[in-house]
Amino acid sequence: MDCNIAVIPGDGIGPEIVTEARKVLAKIGNTYGHKFNFTELLMGGASIDVHGVPLTEEALEAARNSDAVLLGAVGGNVGVSNWYSLPPELRPEAGLLKIRKGLNLYANLRPALLFEDLREACPLKESIIGDGFDLIVVRELTGGLYFGERKTVVEEGIRKAYDTLTYDEEEIRRIALWGFETARKRRKKLCSVDKANVIDSSRLWRQVVKEVSKDYPDVELSDMLVDNCAMQLVKDPGQFDVILTENMFGDILSDEASMVTGSIGMLPSASLGRTKLGLYEPSHGSAPDIAGQNKANPVATILSAAMLLRYSFDLEEEAKQIEEAVQKVLKNGYRTVDIMSDGNTLVGTDKMGDLIAGEIK
Ligand code: NAD
Repeated sequence: MDCNIAVIPGDGIGPEIVTEARKVLAKIGNTYGHKFNFTELLMGGASIDVHGVPLTEEALEAARNSDAVLLGAVGGNVGVSNWYSLPPELRPEAGLLKIRKGLNLYANLRPALLFEDLREACPLKESIIGDGFDLIVVRELTGGLYFGERKTVVEEGIRKAYDTLTYDEEEIRRIALWGFETARKRRKKLCSVDKANVIDSSRLWRQVVKEVSKDYPDVELSDMLVDNCAMQLVKDPGQFDVILTENMFGDILSDEASMVTGSIGMLPSASLGRTKLGLYEPSHGSAPDIAGQNKANPVATILSAAMLLRYSFDLEEEAKQIEEAVQKVLKNGYRTVDIMSDGNTLVGTDKMGDLIAGEIK
């Protein structure tokens, strides 16, 4: 297969971790006879330094014309880097919002999986971890509070800020479809999370999700209030298979879910829309504190490359090969500094990539 992949290394540790993901993809290409054509694009601070904007129209167009986009991370040291003296729409993270919107990527899939060999990294008690957990958050990405109208005014000498949370039924239906389709490929349990006891958009959310569920009789649907979900994630994460939720709730819950795995450097994500073109990136940021030191864990980006093969190219076997290669390297005791523990072997970013690529045969 011929695969045209736009690669955005970005800032901080981005270039280091993307190099390792490319290394692993190249090995998959050699092993399975696929041709990966990589086009490098600038985004974030790297683009600001060259073009004065976090994402040019040309770079966005090039991403649009590719089959998939692999991203490292963008952003610098907030408050220290000069990028943050720019207006918000010209800062590195604005590139991220622009590319998601520009590619119409409205579904964000973030798995939170407890790696058996990293149980000691999990901050939860053994009695809560039990047999482990393997859940995925399906988050609506282009609607809700983050994209609604907002303003700050002064009324009778008092400062007042407004943010608007709206969802229409089409926005809810299309993300619900992603939720049910994802559940169908897993353990067939979907928990839809909202705040329907208080807010109208959640009441509509609940109704529309129920309507969509009629086409998925094989998927068990439950509803949960977001405050309860936040508690259940640390009380009994094993109960969840797929969590379906709106933009802001998903932002918070997916961070909580990734933290309970204890290893943010291990977790990939995919942002998808109606077509096969998706954006794949680690769940973490650009970690400027360790950039350029060969300390970053490249696994989240390598697992994002596995998601890219699965969702944009339907290469399930190749995706599984990468995931199994990661498990084997962990089983053999190799660790980057963020997941290091007694009795294991400390390796740098590049060695971790070599080891994982070496397990693909
Ligand atoms: P961060 O995720 O970059 O870092 C948090 C902590 O985790 C740091 O101590 C860092 O060293 C560590 N860490 C993160 N990834 C790691 C990895 N792969 N291996 C080892 N350790 C890792 O979050 P932050 O410090 O809040 O943000 C730093 C910058 O990243 C900011 O500019 C922020 O805006 C940006 N950011 C970008 C994205 C994105 O590009 N999607 C997402 C989140 C944050």
